[in-house]
Amino acid sequence: MRRLYAGLTSSALEFGVLLAFLFWYLGAEAGKPVGNAFLNGFVTFSLIALSKTLVSLPFDFYGGYVLAHRENLSNQSLPGWLWDRCKGLALLLLLGGSASGVFLMIMVAWPVHWWWIAALASVLLVIFISLIAPVLLAPIFFRFKPLADEVLRERLLALLKRTKANVYGGVWEMDMSSKSKAANAALVGWGPSRRVVLSDTLLDFTPDEIEAILAHEIAHHVGRHIPALIAMKSAMLVFGVYVSRYALEWLGPALVQPGESACVVVSWIILILLGAGVSPLFLVVSRAFEYRCDRYSTEYAEARGGLSSALVKLCKQNLTDPDPPGWVVALFHSHPSVYDRLARIESWEKA
Ligand SMILES: [Zn+2]
Repeated sequence: MRRLYAGLTSSALEFGVLLAFLFWYLGAEAGKPVGNAFLNGFVTFSLIALSKTLVSLPFDFYGGYVLAHRENLSNQSLPGWLWDRCKGLALLLLLGGSASGVFLMIMVAWPVHWWWIAALASVLLVIFISLIAPVLLAPIFFRFKPLADEVLRERLLALLKRTKANVYGGVWEMDMSSKSKAANAALVGWGPSRRVVLSDTLLDFTPDEIEAILAHEIAHHVGRHIPALIAMKSAMLVFGVYVSRYALEWLGPALVQPGESACVVVSWIILILLGAGVSPLFLVVSRAFEYRCDRYSTEYAEARGGLSSALVKLCKQNLTDPDPPGWVVALFHSHPSVYDRLARIESWEKA
């Protein structure tokens, strides 16, 4: 709960930063010539992102470093932690700054049709970040090598064959233990480079448990859960840009002209409010997906009980609350509580 409250306070402060920038830009820019749209967007995004990072840094440090070490979840040194933060911020400025610059350029180039062109561009960006980035960006933070344990590898490849999941990129391990004690397994990449990635922290688990976790991940893949969530996010983005268009029209050219910094801030605020509004709905879908994958895992894993004991281990290892209050799950959790998952898994395994 401490983490949740720190996160909420930080979000509220970051939203305050956005509002402050909005009023500042609305006041400072009125009547001035617009200038270079791309530069406006890039600089505006960078200034705001830097300020938000500064404001949230103490909370980030408390949750991601102090608590993580106190609870024995992290192995990372302070310089290592700070260096990862810097790399993350540099990436954010590069991607977000360029996106904001292009957003304003589109606005200036197509004064009437800009909103749907910008919406289309942002959907493409979301697809790029969700599908391509994990493969391109993960090596910035972690190292990968083919899974050394041959017996385990053969067993996991047999599982892939049984489920008819088209995963051709093999089984890899990732040096998660260099930063954290959290354990993780995932299918990443697309097309022929789609592969299974196990965190090396998962390798202390029994083969039954690892197989059950992988079967759960395969179900996400087979059920096309990632494309479904991307489609939902895209719909939200398109709607958000559409609303931004009306908000900017409502503010009028006396306050905001197309291509001005304030356009970036207005759209940003609208997307954040919209995101917060629809997030509980997205989470309902996400939790339903998780149950479906648990069920799939109980059907395809060789041994029974692997998934349950893996969930209990993960929960202890990551110090997650096994049974958080219902409202916390409803508002913030993409996964059902471990208690609920164990109860359902037990009923499926009995059936
Ligand atoms: Zn899952």
